[in-house]
Amino acid sequence: MRYSKIREMDVSNGEGLGVSLFVQGCHFHCRGCFNPETWDFSGGKEWTKKAKDTFIEIAGKPYIKRISILGGEPLCDENAPEVLEIINELKHLYPSKKIWLYTGYSFEDLYNKNILSDNLAVNQILKIKHKIIESIDYLVDGQFQLENQDLYNEHIIWAGSTNQRIIHVPATLSNSKIQLYNPKQEL
Ligand code: SF4
Repeated sequence: MRYSKIREMDVSNGEGLGVSLFVQGCHFHCRGCFNPETWDFSGGKEWTKKAKDTFIEIAGKPYIKRISILGGEPLCDENAPEVLEIINELKHLYPSKKIWLYTGYSFEDLYNKNILSDNLAVNQILKIKHKIIESIDYLVDGQFQLENQDLYNEHIIWAGSTNQRIIHVPATLSNSKIQLYNPKQEL
């Protein structure tokens, strides 16, 4: 995997003060994307052990309450295996810190167990994506839609257009129904 940057003190991509990892590479190419430099899979920097250790160390600071993974696209086939690896490590080291993940896919596209196929390689990557979903706290899903003025709103928090949902993943999985996160209402 490659990555674009690590933002050490991030207040925009999730609730509270967090650290954000922007992975490199995205197939969606949404018009108006706030990070087009992350589209090229050969751009950015190599995700080395040193980079991972740096990210893990920053995530462990006591004032960091939230860890966000975005991009680029964390859940494309190219990035998902290493994203799962880092999430597993973060959860093991910092079980109380909330993990946010931003994706251009919809929750339904990602977490549909019926789409498992006879192709072993396809199934393997789908299972990796399912494990990622089952490990995170919040999923901001859907592509950014600048051209649709009904959906674009520069004032919404934690997302770019109103089609993007902030999904409370543990509540969604336990209810088998999408549960949106409402910061004023503890689920
Ligand atoms: S999915 Fe995200 S990173 Fe990819 S083009 Fe759309 S807004 Fe940009």
